[in-house]
Amino acid sequence: MITIDGSEGEGGGQVLRYAAALSLITGEPFCITNIRGGRKKPGMMRQHVTSIEAACMIGGAQVSGLAVGSDELTFRPGPIQPGSYHFAVGTAGSTAMVLQAILCPLLTADAPSKLVIEGGTHAAQAPPFEFVAKTLLPLIERMGPQVSATLERHGFYPRGGGRIVVEISPQPLKAIECLDRGALKNSKVEALVTGVPFEIATREISAARKVLSEWSEEAFAPRALSADQGPGNALLIEAEFEHVTEIMSGIGKIGVPAERVGKTAAKRMAGYLASNAFAGPYLQDQLLLPFAMAGGGVFSTVKLSQHTKTAMDLIERFTGTGFRVSDGEGKTQIIEVAR
Ligand code: ATP
Repeated sequence: MITIDGSEGEGGGQVLRYAAALSLITGEPFCITNIRGGRKKPGMMRQHVTSIEAACMIGGAQVSGLAVGSDELTFRPGPIQPGSYHFAVGTAGSTAMVLQAILCPLLTADAPSKLVIEGGTHAAQAPPFEFVAKTLLPLIERMGPQVSATLERHGFYPRGGGRIVVEISPQPLKAIECLDRGALKNSKVEALVTGVPFEIATREISAARKVLSEWSEEAFAPRALSADQGPGNALLIEAEFEHVTEIMSGIGKIGVPAERVGKTAAKRMAGYLASNAFAGPYLQDQLLLPFAMAGGGVFSTVKLSQHTKTAMDLIERFTGTGFRVSDGEGKTQIIEVAR
């Protein structure tokens, strides 16, 4: 059994989700201590419990220690069972994070799956729905499988209540090369608001415009969602290149000025645009597992995140697959699956 100290590296929930996914894929049981030991309030939150429950359901896994607040868990995987599933986080915890624990295992199944996941769709420090649908999944599709995601309802902190539907038709993953992002085809900045003053959206937009001053005026749009989906606010900054669409986001929060939300997300996008890299700071760690499953492939990216370094270690422990990192042009880094 693989033993993991959950406080090492990034020390957050991602360690737990990736461990569960890797365990289902490889059939290796694991035991983890100090879950989220690197966070202010360690132990599993509702969102992490739902992710592991989902992993247990799709993978016939047996688990002990699964409870909100628990900081230890033992996980014994069974056979992966494709099918129709419904998971509800019950809070505004991220639906994309639940998907992170089960998507790659379901890609190894011998039949399609349909997932309905309820919870947050635009949560802080998590992939917003658009990132999943437009950034991550098209790259997985390029590797062979068909995977689509639909947003049926937005879910914001603290109310949640969002709903996404994900359909997965597995195919063996093939190695791809993601070094050239191609030319910029389209750019879009959307500030979504519901149940909060519309001026929050316009203030975020003007702060983002100051940073992304080369983007045309038509790229920037404040948008009000129907009131029943709120209250909430999200800023989505999208750069569609020929070979990849990157999305940087910001989530409005009480006490954080709209200008700061706009400026921070826009600066992140400006850094990515200036770098010439294929993958931005968040796509990086999320590409590692599908690339390892493909047994090959290479991508360029910005400076490696702690999430990425932690995921690399974990993948190597479960699969024996390592990654070679080298310097690319400018400040880019090249990550290659080491065969
Ligand atoms: P914790 O509360 O312990 O931080 P967590 O389960 O919420 O745990 P992390 O361990 O920090 O999360 O993992 C966050 C995951 O979400 C990583 O895979 C990261 O790449 C991704 N992520 C975070 N912010 C964004 C974003 N703005 N866009 C896309 N992906 C994101």
